Amino acid sequence: EHIIDQIKAGEVLERPASLLKELLENSLDAGSTEIHLHLIENGMDLLSIEDNGHGMTFKNLPYAFLRHATSKLKTFEDLYRLHSFGFRGEALASVAASARVTCTTQPKDLNAEGGKIIIAGGHTELLIAQQASTQGTAIYIKDLFFNTPARLKFIKSKVSEKSALKKMIYSFVLCHPEVTFTIKWDEKEKEIFKAVAKENAAERIAQVFFGRKAETQNLIFSEEMYDNYRVRVYFTKETYTTPQYRHHYLFANRRFFQDKSLHSALLRNLDVFWRFGESGHYVVQIDTPPEEIDVNVHPNKIQVKFLRSDVVYSLLVTAIKNGIKKVVS
Ligand code: ADP
Ligand code: MG
Repeated sequence: EHIIDQIKAGEVLERPASLLKELLENSLDAGSTEIHLHLIENGMDLLSIEDNGHGMTFKNLPYAFLRHATSKLKTFEDLYRLHSFGFRGEALASVAASARVTCTTQPKDLNAEGGKIIIAGGHTELLIAQQASTQGTAIYIKDLFFNTPARLKFIKSKVSEKSALKKMIYSFVLCHPEVTFTIKWDEKEKEIFKAVAKENAAERIAQVFFGRKAETQNLIFSEEMYDNYRVRVYFTKETYTTPQYRHHYLFANRRFFQDKSLHSALLRNLDVFWRFGESGHYVVQIDTPPEEIDVNVHPNKIQVKFLRSDVVYSLLVTAIKNGIKKVVS
């Protein structure tokens, strides 16, 4: 069993950023409106997440760390109608097999008992019932991948791990404006990022693009619809030469994904503003009927397939062109 979990850990949680993604999805699935992250050494020494979601009961707590113990997938049909993020029930089991995990949780019903569990390398070291005064879940993960050769690899490639983590965090921050996020890196640094809950997507996007000033007037927005498809594009006219200041994000039904051809369509169509290999920031939000999108392409769910990719593509190009017209005229 533990061996299977360790193999799975390599597949599902191939790097700290993929673990972070699973944890953020769980907190959002639990209806959290506040999420606090703390990462030390890019999550390798400590990766913690505290949320104010609906929590777990003491009875359910140990099941959260068993393989395929998802509470989210009820029928086969659900695979095609993914309203919640999680559906495999493997993330927590995987991480518990290759790290030291402490989880405390309090269900929404404050009269019910929550609890605390400590698991290291797949062995439960502590499981107690306890009650807290506020609802939510806190998960502390220490010494990630301590029993796998992968650990060394992630310790060596610090810069790329940090940028993968940042990209992952921003991708959630961007499409959940109603949630307050705080992110703390390492011990000495204070919060490097705090995004308080915002009214709408544009305000949140401006918050991420421009920092504290959050100038929505510098954000160009354009939207196109056809049938049940909607494409919204947000971009900046200004370009940014420093690579770390370029936010490029594609979302499909509020899920971050990567797509080379859509990305190059953006660069190509925005080249009136973005010249000579420079580029500005963009966020694209694509909404399709849930059954017309395949998100189950890869265990990390980073790629999606659109049933009507031609519709998506032409809506995107039209939206960009109309966005440009707004600025130029
Ligand atoms: P999945 O999300 O696919 O169900 P996970 O391994 O990510 O599988 O989580 C297992 C279960 O643990 C979830 O189904 C959920 O019931 C519970 N859980 C995990 N994280 C949280 C959280 N932050 N708040 C409440 N419940 C949680
Ligand atoms: Mg999950």
